[in-house]
Amino acid sequence: MIDLRSDTVTKPTSSMLEAMMAAKVGDDVFEEDPSVIELEQKTAVLFGKEAGLFCPSGTMTNQIAIKALTKPQEEIICDKTSHVYLYEGGGLAFNSGLSTWLLEGNRGRLTANQVEEAIRPDNVHYPRTSVVSLENTHNRGGGSIYSLADIESIREVCNRYGLFLHLDGARIFNALVESDYTAQEIGSNFDTVSICMSKGLGAPVGSVLVGSGKLIREAKRIRKVLGGGMRQAGYLAKACTYALDHHVDRLKDDHQRAKVLAKMLSELSFVDSVVPVETNIVVSKIIDDVPLEKLLKSLDHSGIKAVAFGKQSMRMVTHLDFDDTMLDQVGVALKRIDSELK
Ligand SMILES: *Cc1c(COP(=O)(O)O)cnc(C)c1O
Repeated sequence: MIDLRSDTVTKPTSSMLEAMMAAKVGDDVFEEDPSVIELEQKTAVLFGKEAGLFCPSGTMTNQIAIKALTKPQEEIICDKTSHVYLYEGGGLAFNSGLSTWLLEGNRGRLTANQVEEAIRPDNVHYPRTSVVSLENTHNRGGGSIYSLADIESIREVCNRYGLFLHLDGARIFNALVESDYTAQEIGSNFDTVSICMSKGLGAPVGSVLVGSGKLIREAKRIRKVLGGGMRQAGYLAKACTYALDHHVDRLKDDHQRAKVLAKMLSELSFVDSVVPVETNIVVSKIIDDVPLEKLLKSLDHSGIKAVAFGKQSMRMVTHLDFDDTMLDQVGVALKRIDSELK
């Protein structure tokens, strides 16, 4: 089975498992797990932040960050297809009591002008705008990357209006390996950054939230009330540390394979168009004559899994467990399906 549904489907490599088995652990709720502390500090230093917090999921790091930065009745600004809004079960309202101002970004990316226009005037009728959330790379945008200039302009607007800026950096390393900015430059522009270790980096579980020492202390209280305090979590944290040490540079291979995959798709008659590939996400629009469900079934029969991504759109994501041999196999299968559908 070649699973291209998501970059979350990877299994730990044998070297990663060895590192996990050898992890020194303790009770992390007592702040006594050396491997968790190591991961939190390492990630914080990487992004130039004071502290980090290890959590079971990226949804939890996003939701905790936003709760730590806001009060109920306030408003968050984000793209209408952002993960924090679309894919976190209504958590902005449920966890933080926020109202949400949705913008339509360019493949999910907002501009400083859009953000500035969405900020509420000081008037009791309105909620108070308090935080802006960006996503880099942007999942629904097909793995699109923000430019540093755009991030800096948005930061400048946030400074001018006294707003916090959060980054959903589930795939921030995919952006970092393709762009000319550093993790430190990302860290310096955001109050909080959520980083997933179980996407392209290939760890089995875990995300880290980084921010100031004060914010992370508050975040730890929120993690506790959500039930996210874990005990001997060092085994998991060690997998994440291993991933940071060994799986960042190789993301370029995933991006290269995604580009080849996009080219293969663009040459098929059942594909209407392919969203230009920037990182590891390939979104293709399927012609109306071929129902998406039928195509996904044909792929499945050929041992290939992909997912629906809105109406007549299909998403494929490259990752650590997808190699060149599998890429060739997908190419052959796609061509066969193409001729069968004609
Ligand atoms: C996967 C993902 C998350 C976090 O998802 P979890 O499954 O909760 O770890 C957050 N933001 C984006 C953009 C994602 O793709």
